[in-house]
Amino acid sequence: MALTVAHRGSLFHLLADPRIKKDCVEFLEDGILLVSDGAIMSMGPANELLGQLPAETEVVYHHDAVLVPGFFDLHVHSPQLTTVAIYGEQLLGWLNTIIPEEEAYKDPEVASNRADLFIREALRNGTTTMAVYGSWAKESVDALFKKADSLNMRLVAGKVMADRNMPEGISLTSPDQDYEDCSSLIETWHGKGRLSYAVTPRFAISCTREDMKVASRLISEHHDVYFQTHLSENPKEVEFTLELFPECKSYLEVYDSFGLLGKRSIFGHCIHLEDKDFKRVAETGSILCPNPPSNFFLGSGLFKFENAKNRNVRVALGTDFGAGNTLSMLSSMENAYKMAQLQGYSLSPWEAFYYATLGGAKALSIDDRIGNFLPGKEADFVVLDKKATPLIEWRMEHARSPADVMFVFMMLGDDRVVRSTYVAGQAVHHRDDRKDD
Ligand SMILES: [Zn+2]
Repeated sequence: MALTVAHRGSLFHLLADPRIKKDCVEFLEDGILLVSDGAIMSMGPANELLGQLPAETEVVYHHDAVLVPGFFDLHVHSPQLTTVAIYGEQLLGWLNTIIPEEEAYKDPEVASNRADLFIREALRNGTTTMAVYGSWAKESVDALFKKADSLNMRLVAGKVMADRNMPEGISLTSPDQDYEDCSSLIETWHGKGRLSYAVTPRFAISCTREDMKVASRLISEHHDVYFQTHLSENPKEVEFTLELFPECKSYLEVYDSFGLLGKRSIFGHCIHLEDKDFKRVAETGSILCPNPPSNFFLGSGLFKFENAKNRNVRVALGTDFGAGNTLSMLSSMENAYKMAQLQGYSLSPWEAFYYATLGGAKALSIDDRIGNFLPGKEADFVVLDKKATPLIEWRMEHARSPADVMFVFMMLGDDRVVRSTYVAGQAVHHRDDRKDD
């Protein structure tokens, strides 16, 4: 019989999109999350559930902590481990500095060692689901899927397609090679356990029309794969894209013209979109994924959260590590708040946590399986420590409401507040475990 575990602590989750629905937040000061066989059996107040737990239930008490659904980082680059925090220019110049690093990933041993470090680091930050850009080398994505599968972790990933405009000395792939590599990765990994493939042109600048057609063909041949790429990040990037595709009136139209918009398409950044683009995104159900840490680091601009809200556009959140100088979704939420403030819009903690939890699940169309603590959902969750640092402890003692508690985590927290991370009910990270234990 599978072991049943009652996780006791404060519990927080969202039941719907707080931009649309009021009263969609549940916060239990002293709750029980009952987990069995990797799934959530029930949640409720401790004083009600403790007396009716199944026989031989193990009770784990997470003192001074809030349990939240595992975080979703829906835009992140695995091969940028050694190039995070590199001083430099804005987007196009910065890419010339960091892309050469991706060559190393054609060596399966390098790819495997770094996939291990990358995924461990994400879990240390409480991220349990990611949409990852690998390098151009198929081996980088093989290694990521292998590692995630060994942990039974949810992962969406794809190798970047790029057949032009890469820095000198970089191996360019051809459209035929991209088709072959992606097809083989899809066949091996897509739908295996908790893994999914995303067709991943790096961006329109790096792909010829033939390569874009390959992306389109892969999507039509495999209807349930995802699609991810960059869109409208930096003004010079937008300008160059329109020079390469003069038949298109906007950057969004480039992808639209190849049939690449839709409910499984995730567009990273989307900073310099116009109103008509937001309208088209809403019509097609496409997903916008701002990455505030990266957008500040590269000086790319400010995502229009309020426009997205008014247009009822599907939004998720990412870090865009390594242009984002963090793998912490709490830091990404903090930066999202500051980004919105600069535009006169106060992003509520509920909206921020929605983007990083249930909103991420909805973006991937898997909110029937994950994203909050409803019974039957997969038990991916994070234990956030209210006493992680002296300042956080002091501030939490003076918290005025559940919204205040969550806002303090968002503004003062990062990997230090993540005490434990659970994937499908199993602990995959304990902050306080020593390496040599
Ligand atoms: Zn990116």
